[in-house]
Amino acid sequence: MGRGFLFITKYLFKKWVMEKILVLNNDYTPINVTTLSRGFKLVFKGKAEVVHFDSDRPIVSSFKSFKRPTTIRLLRYIYLPYKKVPLSRFNIYRRDSHRCVYCGTKSNLTLDHVLPKSRGGKNSWTNLVTCCSPCNLQKGDKTPKEAGMVMSQEPYRPNYLEFIERVSGSIKDEWKPYLFIS
Ligand SMILES: [Zn+2]
Repeated sequence: MGRGFLFITKYLFKKWVMEKILVLNNDYTPINVTTLSRGFKLVFKGKAEVVHFDSDRPIVSSFKSFKRPTTIRLLRYIYLPYKKVPLSRFNIYRRDSHRCVYCGTKSNLTLDHVLPKSRGGKNSWTNLVTCCSPCNLQKGDKTPKEAGMVMSQEPYRPNYLEFIERVSGSIKDEWKPYLFIS
């Protein structure tokens, strides 16, 4: 760490918040998607190495130029328990693309228990869906079938990779070998 680093972060930090990079564990398993500024700090501090970088766009300061990482790998293995996407209102909305599963609207959103709470329906990935207030009211204490309402998709537990995709907005081509079998 030195003056060069401070110079870079001071002037470029804001732009970098938008740019996403993939972080791999020491064994090349994906851990997370983070911002370029955080990833660059890890590399600069010697905690990670650059696996892929954007050769067309180096990071240039008045002192020198640096590789602009798109994928980095931690130099020490960190133990992570099996990653689960936390069940939360926001993550349910995110899974359902912030749309009511019954009518598709994006406004007045709330959560609907597919099997109503009053009938023993649980708070779970497979029993909670994004729903607008009018549809929620219409459905009442019925199941979708009883209410004659159709869900655009069955509720499911998202896996961690989908979560990464939604957090980052997209999956870059060079990340794919670390995320998928084919
Ligand atoms: Zn609706």
